[in-house]
This record gives sequence, structure tokens and C-alpha cells, in this order.
Amino acid sequence: MSIKGLPNFDNTELAFRHLSDGDLRRGRVLFGLLSRPWLVGIGSLFARIALAIRFPIGWAIKPTVYAQFCGGETIEESDDTIEMLYQNGVKTILDYSAEGVTSEEELDATCSEILAAVQAASQDSRHAFSVFKPSGLSLHGLLSKSIDAFTIKEEEEWERVIMRIRTICQSTAEEGGRVLIDAEESWIQDNIDEVAEDMMSDYNRETAVVFTTVQLYRHDRLEYLKELCAKAEKGGFKVGVKLVRGAYMEKERARAEQMGYTSPIQPNKEATDRDYDAALRFCLDNLETMHIFAGTHNAESTLLLCKEMEARGIANDDPRISFSQLLGMSDQITFNLAAHGYNSAKYVPYGPIREAMPYLIRRAKENTSVAGQTSRELTLIRKEVKRRSSL
Ligand SMILES: Cc1cc2nc3c(=O)[nH]c(=O)nc-3n(C[C@H](O)[C@H](O)[C@H](O)COP(=O)(O)OP(=O)(O)OC[C@H]3O[C@@H](n4cnc5c(N)ncnc54)[C@H](O)[C@@H]3O)c2cc1C
Repeated sequence: MSIKGLPNFDNTELAFRHLSDGDLRRGRVLFGLLSRPWLVGIGSLFARIALAIRFPIGWAIKPTVYAQFCGGETIEESDDTIEMLYQNGVKTILDYSAEGVTSEEELDATCSEILAAVQAASQDSRHAFSVFKPSGLSLHGLLSKSIDAFTIKEEEEWERVIMRIRTICQSTAEEGGRVLIDAEESWIQDNIDEVAEDMMSDYNRETAVVFTTVQLYRHDRLEYLKELCAKAEKGGFKVGVKLVRGAYMEKERARAEQMGYTSPIQPNKEATDRDYDAALRFCLDNLETMHIFAGTHNAESTLLLCKEMEARGIANDDPRISFSQLLGMSDQITFNLAAHGYNSAKYVPYGPIREAMPYLIRRAKENTSVAGQTSRELTLIRKEVKRRSSL
């Protein structure tokens, strides 16, 4: 039975009822440490050096940062997390992230791992979507090049990239699942958009199976979203779209400055927020064509989506609308949404600790650089600890 009315993201009892007192204490210590940028800087540097010289640090990472942000080293090992989420009305999106892959064999191995996640998801109603990063399936230089300028060798490599992506999308469609294609840096995104549009045109005839990603921290993306909708209406397919603000802001700005071109990033946070919320409204206005996946930790945008759904008479569990946050972050949003009957899911990263390290370093840095994110997590955890101790 879901709770009626709009969710209240300050409800820490609902947000953290899946966590034991010990888990809460771990979260409090961890986010306390992450709130110190100098410590995160030293920790990240140490982790990078340890990785490079193959110094074993798994014993320190696994019960701390890894336990907070990752499901397990394998799909099987992630099962406790998957079950815990499901028991609380939240579905899983298994996220295998292999970074720094440099050979065709490794790319094929990543593709096989993603296919295994697609299989696992299709046979198990505890899963909501599968997901992949195109850069994990392609040699990086290839994605940043114009397709027209490929050499014959690169054309062959590109064919293999398309084949891997098509295999994943087709397998997902055959299994009756849904798959998200992550968005990455702007200089590789044109090629990713082109492939994602092809896949949506091929597999989204009846419903949205393949979801592309639109990053609203880019000033050109709201326009792109509208063009995509028009293209889909004309072409007779659905658009599945993950709406995010965008994860590579510093890198984008630094590259634009270094290479002397206009930054693709919005001038300020307000402009990003404005376009994100406009994108949500635009998709709701065109829900027959645009299926929404709101990937955000922003409580205001999430609540806006809930309110706009209510105002339009759209059911909380309408299958065309999903919400999602990353494991270990913003539980107050995920679990409160689930308790109110919305389609709520967590990205659950999994994989060997070594391979998860770049992801963990990014999470640590994001938690220090995103203004207020860590203090928000800490305040809520402290509030819940206090509430429990007063019982
Ligand atoms: C389920 C899920 C899936 C995701 N998938 C992807 C993905 O495929 N690709 C991807 O790039 N990211 C992805 N992200 C990360 C996402 O893009 C954001 O980096 C992150 O969620 C923080 O934004 P927010 O909406 O949660 O909230 P907020 O904390 O409100 O916003 C922070 C974000 O606002 C933007 N911002 C901050 N300051 C400024 C400024 N001065 N000027 C302009 N913009 C600014 C940045 O994008 C920053 O990350 C995903 C996030 C989630 C939860």
C-alpha cells in the first residue's frame, strides 16, 4: 500500500528504514570525511598511486567507500543489495563500469558483462533497466572523431562498436527489458547521439526500450530534446530519455578554455536548473512520444515532476515515468518516492574493486564539489540518528 499525497523528502524514518544503526554510523563517518576536500584530495591521490603500483588497498576500500556506493564485485555478490532495495519498493539498475579499456578483447569482455546484466535483469522483476557507457564499448579516440573522417581501419572498428551496442539493445528488446545509454563528454557525444537515435528508431516502435541521455548543463540540449521529439513523431518511434544535469562540468570548461572554443556548459547553475525543469515539463507535455527517466538527486526538480504529474492526472506508477538516484546517495528521495508508489530505482554499480576505483574517486570528488550535497546527506543522517536514539 503506497502513501497518498506528495512525498516529503525530509522524512528520514522512511528514507533510512533499510539501514541498520551500524550502516547509519558508517554513512555518518564517511560523509563527514567526504566533506573535507583536502582529505578527499589526499585520499584520491593515494588511491591512484596504489592502483598504479598495484598496492593492495581492497581491505580498506571494501568495507567503507565501496560498501557505501557499490553493490558487490559480481552480480551474485550484489544480490543482498538488490533484495534490500526491492523489499523497500526500489528496483535495481545494475551498472558495470569498466573504465580505461584499451583493446578489442577488453571491449568484447565488457560487452559480455553488460549482456549478462541484461540477462539477469530480464529474468528478475527486481530490476528496472540495464545500462551501459558507450565509451566502455569503443576505443576512446574513435568516439571523438567525425564519422566522415574515419580511415578504413577505423570504419571497421566503428562497425564493431555498433555491433556491440546493437547486440545489447536487441537482446534487451527480445527479453522485454529496457536499457539506458549513458551520456558522456560533449566531444564524444555527437557519435553517441547518432547511434542512440538509430537504436531508438529500430527498437522503440511500440514502447521505449532504448533510452538516450540528455545533459541539461549544456546550453544546446533543450533545443536538441525538442528536435528529437519532432524526429520521433515523424519517424514513428518513441524516445526514451534519461534527463540529467551532467557530470563533466569542470572537464568541459577546462577543455573549452584550453582549446579556445565556446564552452558547451550553461553560464550558471540557475540556467542548468531552468533547462532541466523545462525539459521535464516538455517531456510531460509530449508523453505519448517521450518516456522519462529522471536521473537526479535534486529534491526540487523531483518534487516538481511529482507535482506536474499530479496536475496532469498522471498516475504515480505510470510506466512511462521513472526516477533514479545512485546507490549510497539521496536515499531520502529514492525511498520516499517508492513509499508513494512512484517507479523508483537505484543505479547499483558493481565490479572488481580495482575497476570500480575511478568511479569511487569520482563519487568522492563529486560529494565534495557539489555544493551542499554532502552536508545534505550528513544533516539527514544525523537527524535520523537523533530520531532513533530518542525512541
Ligand atoms: C541515476 C543517475 C544517472 C546519471 N547518469 C548520467 C549520465 O549518463 N551522464 C552524465 O553526465 N551524468 C549522469 N548523472 C550525473 C548527473 O548528471 C549529475 O552530475 C548529478 O546527478 C548531480 O546533479 P543533480 O541533478 O543530481 O543535482 P544538483 O546537485 O542540483 O546539480 C548539480 C549539477 O548541476 C550542474 N551545475 C553545478 N554548478 C553549475 C554551474 N555553475 N553552471 C552550470 N551548471 C552547474 C552540474 O551538472 C552539477 O553536476 C547521473 C545521475 C543519476 C542520479
